[in-house]
Amino acid sequence: MKQKHIAIDGDSASGKTTIGRILAERLNFTFIDSGLFYRAATYIILKNGIEKEKDKWVKLIAANKILLKDGSIYINEGNIEEEILHSSDVDNLVSPVSTVPEIRNFITLTLQEHANNKNVVMTGRDIGTVVLKGAFLKIYLTANVEIRAGRRFKELIEKGIKVSFEDVLENLKKRDTIDSSREKSPLAVANDAFLINTTELSEEENIEKIFLFIKGKEYAL
Ligand code: C5P
Repeated sequence: MKQKHIAIDGDSASGKTTIGRILAERLNFTFIDSGLFYRAATYIILKNGIEKEKDKWVKLIAANKILLKDGSIYINEGNIEEEILHSSDVDNLVSPVSTVPEIRNFITLTLQEHANNKNVVMTGRDIGTVVLKGAFLKIYLTANVEIRAGRRFKELIEKGIKVSFEDVLENLKKRDTIDSSREKSPLAVANDAFLINTTELSEEENIEKIFLFIKGKEYAL
């Protein structure tokens, strides 16, 4: 049987990762959060102190191996998942890094290799439009920005990270603007994606909706 790919795109902190992870678990698919790859690329820049030397970014990122191992993100041999998920330095630089076409090409290829010959749920910004264009099902998640900032703020506070709600809100708004206005593969709803507004839905209600879409797709095959 042909591999099945499910693409979930959406705004920052719209619930993609939580929903994508649960969905993959229930379907027994591999879960891939593409945001981790862009965060890892940003981490390489920060670790090497070259955030102001844009001309060095591409070469340095390409010299490293970014990969998923046992569901966690690695740079070469090191697991850096916790560091990149809860760093405000990464949060602040990741969208500018993601505008660089060569970096997007490099990460797109890496993601496609990870999805090759596997049943996959992949979350991101350009999965349905670029990375997995032929996906069996495409979902786009959105939610009110204050609600999204509240979710992200709670997540960071629970991890013991000191942040203010205002800073989180500001970062999400900035990332949304950069992500949707960049020239190469901007955040956009694929023509054939189903849109879900998660503002007033529980996690379970979102998952139920997606299962209905899956059933509809399978029925149409
Ligand atoms: O999903 P997450 O919020 O962790 O993604 C971090 C950033 O990585 C996004 O704000 C965006 O700039 C970039 N990204 C992207 N394309 C993807 C996934 C993430 O440009 N497919």
